[in-house]
Amino acid sequence: SIKDSYGKRYAWFDDSMREALLEQQEIVNEMEFALRDGQFITYFQPQYNYETGKMIGAEALVRWQHPRKGTILPNKFIPLFERNGFISRLDEYMWEQVCIQLKDWERKGLNLVPISVNVSRRDIYNPHLVGNILSLLQEYELSPEMLHLEITESAYTQNAEQLVNTVNLLRIHGIEVHMDDFGSGYSSLNMLQNVPVDILKLDMRFLGGDYKDERSGNILNAVVRMATALRLPVLAEGVETKEQAEFLRSIGCLLMQGYLFSRPMAVEDFEKLLDGSQTVSALDKSYVESFQ
Ligand code: C2E
Ligand code: MG
Ligand code: MG
Ligand code: MG
Repeated sequence: SIKDSYGKRYAWFDDSMREALLEQQEIVNEMEFALRDGQFITYFQPQYNYETGKMIGAEALVRWQHPRKGTILPNKFIPLFERNGFISRLDEYMWEQVCIQLKDWERKGLNLVPISVNVSRRDIYNPHLVGNILSLLQEYELSPEMLHLEITESAYTQNAEQLVNTVNLLRIHGIEVHMDDFGSGYSSLNMLQNVPVDILKLDMRFLGGDYKDERSGNILNAVVRMATALRLPVLAEGVETKEQAEFLRSIGCLLMQGYLFSRPMAVEDFEKLLDGSQTVSALDKSYVESFQ
């Protein structure tokens, strides 16, 4: 009967709800230990200049190597950590891991590229953020050019004034700030005039739709032209096909990151790319200067 099937639907719904809640509770119970136990691992995804084919940097992305569940992707736990505040500790841990890694590559004589780390919207309003980052760089004797900070676009819409101050301070100290997920939120193009950033990271969804469709293609084109007019380099995320890369090149977007070039990699694999033949010097700003 109808009632029966409703009953079943409800039961099924309850079960999956309960399961999701249990899973969340498990994550919360385990996060402290996982952090101390070194279960949060840094993966690296290269970023390229499509024109020269050289790697210009890489993004550090967290993976949870769970002893029983295997690799857990960030979408499963980052939103939860943002709600319960644990994200700040995870992020600081990640930044330090990246510094340790950079130091290690330097000792091995590898050709360093700057590494971009993600900064949660929760971290931005921490008054110690800039101090903490500077201490890390000092502790590991790293030049501020080696660490780029990715701040998601939606963070810019909250307390813009404080954010602008923080971003200015970071840049005064020589730390590049990249606006992540640009185009995913509600910020206006106008905002770009007021908020100082070094690179716009175009959100993946710009490529997700049919960019060959005239309208979407035009939007992408307009965003890149607007950024160029503001002397802002644009890096496209989520580039998966040669066609996408060629289209981006045709509209003047040369910096790219995506599966077409490489998936996020474990450090042992990423290191192999740092032999110097495939990278540009971390201090070579020509990719930025070409916009100025
Ligand atoms: P994001 O910062 O925008 O990072 C880019 C995401 O796109 C990564 O997902 C990356 O693996 C994925 N990606 C790269 N190229 C392609 C492609 O060609 N196709 C597709 N479909 N995806 C691609 P991931 O690693 O799962 O991370 C998801 C999000 O989690 C990140 O988005 C970032 O917002 C957050 N996240 C990751 N690591 C950290 C971290 O250490 N701290 C903080 N606060 N957030 C992090
Ligand atoms: Mg990012
Ligand atoms: Mg740089
Ligand atoms: Mg992004």
